[in-house]
Amino acid sequence: MSDWSGLEVRLMAPGPGRCPDCAGVHEPGEPHDIGSLYYQMKFRQQHGCGPTRWDAAAHCEPAVQAAWAEQTTGEGEAGMT
Ligand SMILES: [Zn+2]
Repeated sequence: MSDWSGLEVRLMAPGPGRCPDCAGVHEPGEPHDIGSLYYQMKFRQQHGCGPTRWDAAAHCEPAVQAAWAEQTTGEGEAGMT
């Protein structure tokens, strides 16, 4: 596991039309792109740990979070950190 805490990481600002938090393309009310390296690095800088899929959906409406939970439950969980 990488320790980025002592590393100053310069992140390129997301382009126009992209989410300022994850650099992905999604509606403001939708979860961030958990697979985005930009999101992971930015989150780690702010929180000292990597984001979970719940962090990615923390800003969403409860209904969106419920759909997100269903969508991401099951397959593909094992490899996520
Ligand atoms: Zn985002």
